[in-house]
Amino acid sequence: MNGPEILVDFDPEPALFVPHGRRAKATKVVTDGVSTLGHVVESLGVPLTEVGGLVVDGREVPASHVPAAGETVRVRAVERPQRVPGAPLRFLLDVHLGTLARRLRLLGVDAAYESTDIGDPALAARSAAERRVMLSRDRGLLRRRELWAGAFVYSTQPDDQLRDVLGRFEPELRPWTRCTACNGMLKDAAKDEVAGRLEGGTQRSYDVFAQCEECGRVYWRGAHHDRLQAIVARALTEFGS
Ligand SMILES: [Zn+2]
Repeated sequence: MNGPEILVDFDPEPALFVPHGRRAKATKVVTDGVSTLGHVVESLGVPLTEVGGLVVDGREVPASHVPAAGETVRVRAVERPQRVPGAPLRFLLDVHLGTLARRLRLLGVDAAYESTDIGDPALAARSAAERRVMLSRDRGLLRRRELWAGAFVYSTQPDDQLRDVLGRFEPELRPWTRCTACNGMLKDAAKDEVAGRLEGGTQRSYDVFAQCEECGRVYWRGAHHDRLQAIVARALTEFGS
């Protein structure tokens, strides 16, 4: 189809989604004359969750703008920290981000997680119903219109994923307040309340206990504590307020 020709260039983050040949400088795109700029940008591979703004010849336009011949478009990255108005900040993570989900919970960040693959429509519906920011590395999922909000997780490494999400959204950190297994809130628990759930060695060695209000799981300062403490300390140093 010979439609209007436009020039498109990208900030570094959205550029990651387009082929190498289009990254370095403004590249020509032939549009069909009726599609919106949002659609054009998506069809180049960039999820709109990763677009902070669209600037046409120096003027910001909405994604619904229909590009005309000769326009030059700048695709801006999302501003950090990104604010998501309309609901308390909380997240929903897809089946591939279990480690990230547990680390966010360790830091007290509300992070729902689906440990089975319930499918993109169900995830998107839950994001909308509970007003949760969908975190995923699946561009198809992030294109779904029903999402309350979404964000692409750029790394495959949990350490980097955590820094990415904390830096992008700056959620309030309240370490050791949430169950890493189910996302429920923890309450203090006395040893005699939870004794029935402890093995003998644990009962003798540890005194500080918390229990999940949702699933009943008991937490104490045990074997993995140093490793978890290191994750918490690093996050607080870099992102604690
Ligand atoms: Zn729990």
